[in-house]
Amino acid sequence: APAPVYNRIALIGLGLIASSMYWAIRRGGLAGEVTGYARSEETRDTARRIGLTDRVCESAAEAVEGADLVVLAVPVGAMASVTAEIAPHLAKGTTVTDVGSVKRDVINNVGPLLPEGVQFIPGHPLAGTEHSGPESGFATLFDNRWCLLVPVEGTDPAATAQLRALWEGMGANVEEMDADHHDLVLAVTSHTPHLIAYTMVGVADDLGRVTDGEVIKYSAAGFRDFTRIAASDPTMWRDVFLTNKDATLEILGRFTEELFALQRAIRTGDGDHLFDYFTRTRAIRRGII
Ligand code: NAD
Repeated sequence: APAPVYNRIALIGLGLIASSMYWAIRRGGLAGEVTGYARSEETRDTARRIGLTDRVCESAAEAVEGADLVVLAVPVGAMASVTAEIAPHLAKGTTVTDVGSVKRDVINNVGPLLPEGVQFIPGHPLAGTEHSGPESGFATLFDNRWCLLVPVEGTDPAATAQLRALWEGMGANVEEMDADHHDLVLAVTSHTPHLIAYTMVGVADDLGRVTDGEVIKYSAAGFRDFTRIAASDPTMWRDVFLTNKDATLEILGRFTEELFALQRAIRTGDGDHLFDYFTRTRAIRRGII
């Protein structure tokens, strides 16, 4: 068996990402021990019942005691309060990372709360499903997916290399990226599409009320494919838009412009515009596996 990458990993928050990490860590023999903590008693009970982490703790402070890696896997809006709770219990030399979908906000709000001598390496695995909670995770979630690390100034390269080894052990391909660039790219590839999917379901629901639920009942493949991600966790997505405000507003502005141009083309019967637009965007979409 390969040598563990860390002696003890603490997972704070036991949802989709943390539970998938635990099963992937176990699959790879990547840690000596993994402790876990979630805020709600129900989640902790579920975790104990399904054997999620080696030891479920009653407080975040207890979970991080003696850990050489702490993973913050809570909604972005809860990162700072969790950090404030664990900060006094972190030993020098501990690495703290997170898996939040937004990076600038986490860097600005979590970084300053950490004590001297703790390595802070923000991260974001580009992998997920529309499911959430402790029972939604699975060991292969990160296989062949990207994990972006966003090292901050003054980080020990050895600590970054160790975290990289963990993610690679969990099956991911690791790249480093600047925080602002990350937030803009994710606004295009993930955040704004979720907002639009949520909107489409809202529109259908409105219409459903006047047509006796037909929109939902006869929901065609387009609607189903397009709106799958609208089943995602509302707390997580509320926090993404509250904390990636500038980038999502920028992308939403561009989206609205294109939508208005298409709306105008439909109204004026401008088939060339529609055809050219669909031709160009189909070629791009076909290039994505
Ligand atoms: P989830 O809803 O499945 O789980 C979140 C967990 O955090 C739950 O166990 C919840 O009880 C716990 N929690 C919430 N507030 C807490 C608090 N104050 N203290 C302790 N525990 C608390 O969410 P998830 O999908 O695992 O997301 C976790 C993080 O990963 C989020 O920051 C999210 O942005 C990010 N992320 C999600 C995805 C995805 O597709 N779901 C992908 C990549 C990254």
